[in-house]
Amino acid sequence: MENIGEQVVYLMAYHLLFAMFVWSYWKTIFTLPMNPSKEFHLSYAEKELLEREPRGEAHQEVLRRAAKDLPIYTRTMSGAIRYCDRCQLIKPDRCHHCSVCDKCILKMDHHCPWVNNCVGFSNYKFFLLFLAYSLLYCLFIAATDLQYFVKFWTNGLPDTQAKFHIMFLFFAAAMFSVSLSSLFGYHCWLVSKNKSTLEAFRSPAFRHGTDKNGFSLGFSKNMRQVFGDEKKYWLLPIFSSLGDGCSFPTCLVNQDPEQPSTPAGLNSATKNLENHQFPAKPLRESQSHLLTDSQSWSENCTNSGKGKAGMSNPALTMENET
Ligand SMILES: [Zn+2]
Ligand SMILES: [Zn+2]
Repeated sequence: MENIGEQVVYLMAYHLLFAMFVWSYWKTIFTLPMNPSKEFHLSYAEKELLEREPRGEAHQEVLRRAAKDLPIYTRTMSGAIRYCDRCQLIKPDRCHHCSVCDKCILKMDHHCPWVNNCVGFSNYKFFLLFLAYSLLYCLFIAATDLQYFVKFWTNGLPDTQAKFHIMFLFFAAAMFSVSLSSLFGYHCWLVSKNKSTLEAFRSPAFRHGTDKNGFSLGFSKNMRQVFGDEKKYWLLPIFSSLGDGCSFPTCLVNQDPEQPSTPAGLNSATKNLENHQFPAKPLRESQSHLLTDSQSWSENCTNSGKGKAGMSNPALTMENET
């Protein structure tokens, strides 16, 4: 490349994309997943009661009483309160137990081997930006390398070792671009529908039955649930998602006679906070664990640990709630 202006523009674009990619990757890896707040944990007396009661209706009655004032709308497939045996807590909506982290993770999306962390409420936005910036980074490299790649095949390059670098670089960038674009496209679709990967594989069950769009509030509000209200933060890996991760606005709330009616909308999570005294939990207070590979996450709380670690297909590894 001879033109100095072109060199400056290429170098600046490259480093900008690289910096954003590293920043969002870093945040995805090192942001601790959030766990349910203490309101969802059973009291000592309740735990004792549960241990004494046989499984079944009496067991459920204890859980129902404990969950009375909690902002939960989802149930197991059979209509029971979602309870995690391992963490001994009532699972908030969209929360799932990760067998790799051995913790209940708020709005768990999946356990990701590429970031060695659980992707959930606390870092889902970072994960999306990581996909977006890494895709742009790879596309930029493939596009700028393309003319030299063509020269490689037409023998237009000087005959040195470096020409093989040009070929390898193009193949690597193009292959990552293809796989990243399909993953990024899939997650864009999930965000537009306000679904997690787990919910896309198994629709959440509410009191009146399953509803695959139970948390969807419409495209614009779904986007804001993840990216927040302030546009200036949308492209930066800075936490700006709405809500506290323990309760979520749902378009079905008003159909649920036993729950206080909360208007579905952007502020519902905040309203839930007020109604139910759920203090928003600062991110840094949440605990977390780094994770391993996606092949081993599974959900097995409700069935006393009977569930087995699953395959990479989330459909096979979702919790066995009965
Ligand atoms: Zn758990
Ligand atoms: Zn995990």
